[in-house]
Amino acid sequence: MQYLFGDWAKVDKRVLQTKHILLCADFDGTITPIKPRPQQAILGKKTRLLLARLSKNKAFTVAIVTGRSLADIKKKVPVQGLIFAGNHGLEILYKNKKFVYPQAKKIIPLISKLGRALRTKIRSFSGAVLEEKELSLSLHYRLVNLKKLRILRKIFLQLINPYLAQGEIRFTLGKKVWEVRPPIDWDKGRAVLYLVKKLRQKGDSIIYLGDDTTDEDAFRAVNKIGGLSIVVGKRPNSCAKYYLKNTHDAQKFLTQLQLIKS
Ligand SMILES: [Mg+2]
Repeated sequence: MQYLFGDWAKVDKRVLQTKHILLCADFDGTITPIKPRPQQAILGKKTRLLLARLSKNKAFTVAIVTGRSLADIKKKVPVQGLIFAGNHGLEILYKNKKFVYPQAKKIIPLISKLGRALRTKIRSFSGAVLEEKELSLSLHYRLVNLKKLRILRKIFLQLINPYLAQGEIRFTLGKKVWEVRPPIDWDKGRAVLYLVKKLRQKGDSIIYLGDDTTDEDAFRAVNKIGGLSIVVGKRPNSCAKYYLKNTHDAQKFLTQLQLIKS
């Protein structure tokens, strides 16, 4: 994996020669720094203005691809003309039309049931943050102290294990977060390929920026179709072709993209 700005001449040339770019970016840890609690993450003004400029630029179509719910990410990124893929791509908003992966809806009652149970169980764990996202749920444990974490993990697994054994849910890990998702073969990678198919035009390419485990699905998908995969921050075994050091670096990259195509 190479540092993106270490190979800049090549990247610059490639972007210059590409007519249209589908620019996909994750939110937390990619275009905005990770905060102790997910609700504290706020898109910086500079990045917001930059996304707005990129979104108006005909050379780009910009998509935010996140594990957050669609409703949440729309509020977090108040920029016109963007595509939003929430819940790891299970719900996609494109040109005011909402796509929800058909089989995903079946999980709504179970997610709500697990959410209710967890809400009660985590009350005594200060710092545990439950994110209920209708089609999935996330339990953030960044702020839980190490001694209590083992117990929290046990409680969480005890609750979800029966459903896991029955194949009714899928369990995934992220940065200090456990997630329950529908047991279907759909992820950020599939979502990105779905967008590529929708947008297909001559002379286009795709760039994907992400920072976490679930972004690896997208990196692999993007690599397969000859796009540019970029991991933000340290991920030693990442499938991404390039890396950027941090969210500040990512912002610098987006600024450069806008400049090349202005
Ligand atoms: Mg992220």
